[in-house]
Amino acid sequence: MRNISTQNISTSNIFNNTLAQSNTMDTKKELVVSAIENGTVIDHIPTESVYRVIHILGLEEYKDEVLIGNYLQSSKLGRKGIIKIKNKHFTKDEVSKVALVAPFVTIITIQDYKVIEKFATEIPDHVENFVKCANPKCITNCEAVPTKFDIVDKENLMLRCHYCEKFTTKETIHFIH
Ligand SMILES: [Zn+2]
Repeated sequence: MRNISTQNISTSNIFNNTLAQSNTMDTKKELVVSAIENGTVIDHIPTESVYRVIHILGLEEYKDEVLIGNYLQSSKLGRKGIIKIKNKHFTKDEVSKVALVAPFVTIITIQDYKVIEKFATEIPDHVENFVKCANPKCITNCEAVPTKFDIVDKENLMLRCHYCEKFTTKETIHFIH
């Protein structure tokens, strides 16, 4: 491709224009999911779970930049949601919380605009302290006893209380903030 003659100049211009155009498209694409310098990105969130994830992480109260995108096009999901949280790194409990309301999302840790960690969430086997037992008579609802559950069915999300052995489900799940 080094032997471009003068006759080919117009072709080469077209090529350059196409390149310029595709660069613009990349820039546009990046603007939709604009980069953060430091923080965490939660990607591939099912559209119906975006606001639940925001709520469960208490992001309504977060005092730094939070970028929320929903119904974005996704080759994987058709449509997806994405949340970017500046200067926030998740604890293990926070990752578990996200996994409970939106399993299999992608969590990306960013430092100096670079991806330093990227993983898909998985529903854990046990959770402690942050899920409320659905049984009002459970000791954890009557006394200052931290809750503890085994997740016995990950697909339908069923948690068995360590104390009263009653089930808390997707429908009855509440979180202790
Ligand atoms: Zn219980």
